[in-house]
Amino acid sequence: MAHQIFTLKDLLPVAQRNHFAVGAFSARFPGMIEPILRAAVETRSPVIVQISQVEFSWYQISPAYYAGKFYEILAKVSPDVPVCLHLDHTTTLDLIQEAVAAGFSSVMIDASAKPLEENIACTRQVVALAKQHGISVEAELGKILSSDKFETTSEEEIYTDPVEAERFVGETGVDALAISIGTVHSIYYTRQPKIDFERLAAIRERVQIPLVLHGGSGVPSDQVKRAIQLRAGGVSKINIATELENALYASLELPERITNAEFWQLSTARIARAQDAVKELTKVKINDYLLSAGAADLYNATPSRLASTPGY
Ligand SMILES: [Zn+2]
Repeated sequence: MAHQIFTLKDLLPVAQRNHFAVGAFSARFPGMIEPILRAAVETRSPVIVQISQVEFSWYQISPAYYAGKFYEILAKVSPDVPVCLHLDHTTTLDLIQEAVAAGFSSVMIDASAKPLEENIACTRQVVALAKQHGISVEAELGKILSSDKFETTSEEEIYTDPVEAERFVGETGVDALAISIGTVHSIYYTRQPKIDFERLAAIRERVQIPLVLHGGSGVPSDQVKRAIQLRAGGVSKINIATELENALYASLELPERITNAEFWQLSTARIARAQDAVKELTKVKINDYLLSAGAADLYNATPSRLASTPGY
């Protein structure tokens, strides 16, 4: 059975034009997928479900397993809102190929730790691969700090340079660009986030494609809304990861991360409680943060990509 899923190319330009952002919710293991999809359905919002390279290893799962579960849950929920399955922060072409084969409709290549020329070369390779499969590519320019080194290993923060951004987008042909403008991956233990709006506006003047804000957890909503609603088109994809997983573990009263297998060994009541916590927080983000509630109606029913996963 084939399922229709959207790419970032389908999702984000509509958001950019209409001044909302699509939430990219990190479902770090399959147990988090269903509540995210249900929250999107209940709020009539488009949604991106994503997982990164490091999250695969934390939860000891493969792209094929994850995508298989995703399509199984998609068939069960049968959402009438646009849904994208995105591979978040990934540094290797091998894993990207694996995810594409498994049915991901979008990928992120993160070569931001490399010098500009290498970042461009590496990103171009992924864009070429993606074109063959009709999927979208997000890349990153500048270095987004991580307060607990959870997603990337960046120890230094380098804000995205608007002139470099123009060149990077022109030479790579990416569909969306993650920029470093003052947000930090993970929760802000050490410092309060402060979005550099002048820089955001300067990047927007030179770059027409959708922009992505990482480190969405813990940024005050007034700052986020301002970044989304920039007159010329603000950020149109916002990643929400840490807060979502924290809500899950708080509801379970577990101090440490467990594996995917251990999660499914919990009692039915605890699983339901944990999934409810994820669903409620996703709804809060959609309503109060992303301004995407009701936005599903702005999309055509037919996405550009028809994904078909073996076995479903
Ligand atoms: Zn990120």
